[in-house]
Amino acid sequence: MIAKGKIVWISGPAVKASGMSEAKMYETVEVGEDRLVGEIIRLTGDVAFIQVYESTSGLKPGEPVIGTGQPLSVSLGPGMMGKIYDGLQRPLDELAKVAGSFIERGISVPPISHDKEWHFKPTVKKGDIVEAGSVIGVVDETPLIEHKVMVPPEHSGGKILEVIKEGNYNIDEIIATIQKNGPKQDLKMYHRWPVRRGRPYTKRFGSDLPLVTGQRIIDTFFPLVKGGTAAIPGGFGTGKTVTLHQVAAWANAKVVFHVGCGERGNEMTEVLIKFPELKDPATGLSLMERTVLVANTSNMPVAAREASIYTGVTMAEYYRDMGYDVVLVADSTSRWAEALREISGRLEEMPAEEGYPSYLASRLAEFYERAGRMQSLGSPERIGSVTLIGAVSPSGADFTEPVTTHTSRFIKTFWGLDTKLAYSRHYPSINWITSYTGYVDDVSDWWSKNVYQNWRQLRLEAFEILQREDVLKEIVRLLGPEALPNEEKLLLDVARMVKEGFLQQSAFDDIDTYCSPEKQVKQLNILVEFYHLALSALGSGVPLEDIRAMPIITSIIRSKYEIPNTELDKLDKLLGKMKDSFKEIRKVKETETIVK
Ligand code: ADP
Ligand code: MG
Repeated sequence: MIAKGKIVWISGPAVKASGMSEAKMYETVEVGEDRLVGEIIRLTGDVAFIQVYESTSGLKPGEPVIGTGQPLSVSLGPGMMGKIYDGLQRPLDELAKVAGSFIERGISVPPISHDKEWHFKPTVKKGDIVEAGSVIGVVDETPLIEHKVMVPPEHSGGKILEVIKEGNYNIDEIIATIQKNGPKQDLKMYHRWPVRRGRPYTKRFGSDLPLVTGQRIIDTFFPLVKGGTAAIPGGFGTGKTVTLHQVAAWANAKVVFHVGCGERGNEMTEVLIKFPELKDPATGLSLMERTVLVANTSNMPVAAREASIYTGVTMAEYYRDMGYDVVLVADSTSRWAEALREISGRLEEMPAEEGYPSYLASRLAEFYERAGRMQSLGSPERIGSVTLIGAVSPSGADFTEPVTTHTSRFIKTFWGLDTKLAYSRHYPSINWITSYTGYVDDVSDWWSKNVYQNWRQLRLEAFEILQREDVLKEIVRLLGPEALPNEEKLLLDVARMVKEGFLQQSAFDDIDTYCSPEKQVKQLNILVEFYHLALSALGSGVPLEDIRAMPIITSIIRSKYEIPNTELDKLDKLLGKMKDSFKEIRKVKETETIVK
């Protein structure tokens, strides 16, 4: 039975309808004469509480509400790559063509084209047995993405009775017919999946593969793994968006999802312009050939923003199921939480901290739980991952507010942006004292095997320099730098070199924008080695002034801009030259001593 009720109450995006006893929780409904898309978020007796995904202006009590029997779902099939969707998977680019620059209500354009023909190559033959999740054929979706056409999850599977021959077909073509015990079932190149339910998989793995981003402070000090979770909280202008773009552009993932959640309209426009300009580092093709954007600006209906992260993560899981590493960045989860708060407030639910609903934490947990590295259902065997990174924009950069504190319970990597650092133009403004990661143990093996045997030790030594500086800074603030012995003054100098030469990294410099793992290790090794040699020179009587005056210091700091990833032998030479410089100043010292 399909529910048929009537609107009894309207408040912004929230609507109550009576006569809805046939309806189910999270069922989508058509609201009003204009058949606006809505979703039932609470049922009390025969009254349904509905969040409406389109503007409700003009809607009146008494208008009809009709159930669809379906939960909020997305279409999954070839044609998603390169698209710009809103939070309900409506293609914004296509909508703009149909509706002009202002998107009218009730307009529907399919999420993926039903006209476009794809060159389908079957990978199974008549008589084969397939299960839910099994790949039955492939399509070149873009020059960078081979789309695996899969039997939908929770399908019975069965024996292939028929499969279409290689050729060009649209997504409505029946490409295979299978049968288990019951009736024959037709398969198409796409299927639907509800956004609020994670897609099933065979097995979840712990991950020990780093998501290499080419951003030094991230990869070396606060690494993330493929299938891991990270949050990047920061006040306005501290660099959340730039950092997320850097990760999206450079990470060693196959597919990128950028979910723009309710940030100001012009900021989203910037993303829409910037992203298509970004190049895939490996091929030089547009990054959009392997990217999907989900865009919900602050002027779009608030409920669609609430849906957008689920829409994004569901599509991301679908590409994971093909066996790809997928990274999803959400900018910003605070705007998403505010949507949750607004709707909850309209429905007069009992608020918890700062007006957010009491289920804020569980919603955040549900989102981040969808990250992971998994073996897909069916055959052949595939392993893919979804990495989730959420920006958090607490007002006044107050990290004790509910969205930041709850988020930090569910993520393993915390890149805390620092207003003071951003103010002094230290970018990325990730604070190395307050940030943390739970993945160092996981990624150590990869670094030792693939990049540098003693990675862990090197990382630790550099990190200790930064931590000791943080303690000494306090003494300097109270007593002035002269209060410190020379060894500690030296430590402050080296810490400055690590900050300027390693932690600071310009997103806008052609060379510095991406730093390969090999270059990171070589740079860090030079810095730590400098500290050792300087300490030993100091110990044998070389004055601190002489060390400070070494011209090589500038070359070390500038090497990040001057030495490209492809000419790393120059860093080896720089290391050699640095060692020579130290021999030099020690010799000068010895001669001076002899003269005296
Ligand atoms: P947020 O999203 O946190 O409000 P943005 O990401 O827009 O902040 O960053 C604000 C500004 O900070 C940028 O326009 C840019 O000038 C500067 N910035 C941030 N990160 C970097 C970086 N890695 N390299 C150079 N400049 C940066
Ligand atoms: Mg931003």
